[in-house]
Amino acid sequence: MTKLIKSINEIKDNLSNCEKPIGFVATMGSLHKGHISLIDKCKSENKTSVLSIYVNPLQFGPDEDYKQYPRNFEEDLKIANEKKIDYVFAPDDEDMQPKHKSEIIPPPDYLSSILCGISRKNHFTGVATIVNMLFNIIEPNNSYFGKKDLQQLYIINWLVKEFNLPVQIKACPIVREENGLACSSRNKNLNKEQKSVAANIYKSLELAKQNSRSGIFTASKVILESLIHLSRFKDIKIEYFEAREKEKLSKVNDNQTSNIYYLTAAKVGNTRLIDNIEA
Ligand code: AMP
Repeated sequence: MTKLIKSINEIKDNLSNCEKPIGFVATMGSLHKGHISLIDKCKSENKTSVLSIYVNPLQFGPDEDYKQYPRNFEEDLKIANEKKIDYVFAPDDEDMQPKHKSEIIPPPDYLSSILCGISRKNHFTGVATIVNMLFNIIEPNNSYFGKKDLQQLYIINWLVKEFNLPVQIKACPIVREENGLACSSRNKNLNKEQKSVAANIYKSLELAKQNSRSGIFTASKVILESLIHLSRFKDIKIEYFEAREKEKLSKVNDNQTSNIYYLTAAKVGNTRLIDNIEA
């Protein structure tokens, strides 16, 4: 039976003498197949598994969708039970408020002021701050993150290295719907037509991968071709479509066509979606 815990002291007490290794999956709930792939990997590699469900207000800007963010707590608990997660940690906002300035963790600009960080100003500070708090509370040996939030994954890896945290970060592949759309809690805010249009975001990334691997296009031509594909869909409003190298997510030299990621963010209706592909 999964044990639901809200209090920080109680989860610490429970984990202090549990069987190690502890595996941890951090989520904002409204669980889908992407989350479940992380849970399955976590279960298979650890003796004790912890799932956090916490919609982190610090990572939403004032004009963003904190209030509309899908919440589905009862269903999430059912899934946790079915998956035999040992602990669900679902803290209250009050307990997760940083109490000291030193608990606020702004990641370096080279990672946090690019891509999603341009439109979401303090987003990655909110992410790093809360994930660091969760790591301090849970003290996991292994923690599982999806490549879907690729920039976030780089930030988490930075966090662990910067503060020498004793946790292994495990990067997990992107799980997709049948039509290619990357699974996301926000997909619940899309209607049927929007979902089918949104699949073109993935198609444009697949096209980028193909064009990139063909060896005939420069990175900027690859991007242009994908943008031309996307321009056919009026309901997709592109925020960015970029090529970044793998090591530090730096900009690529135009002749580089391998060891790169193509990353994009777009709105379909009011729903902001992100996705990426390795080329
Ligand atoms: P979230 O609940 O959106 O904060 O996501 C929690 C974790 O699940 C993060 O590590 C995400 O990268 C991961 N995740 C979300 N969607 C997917 C997906 N489609 N495939 C793989 N991992 C995902």
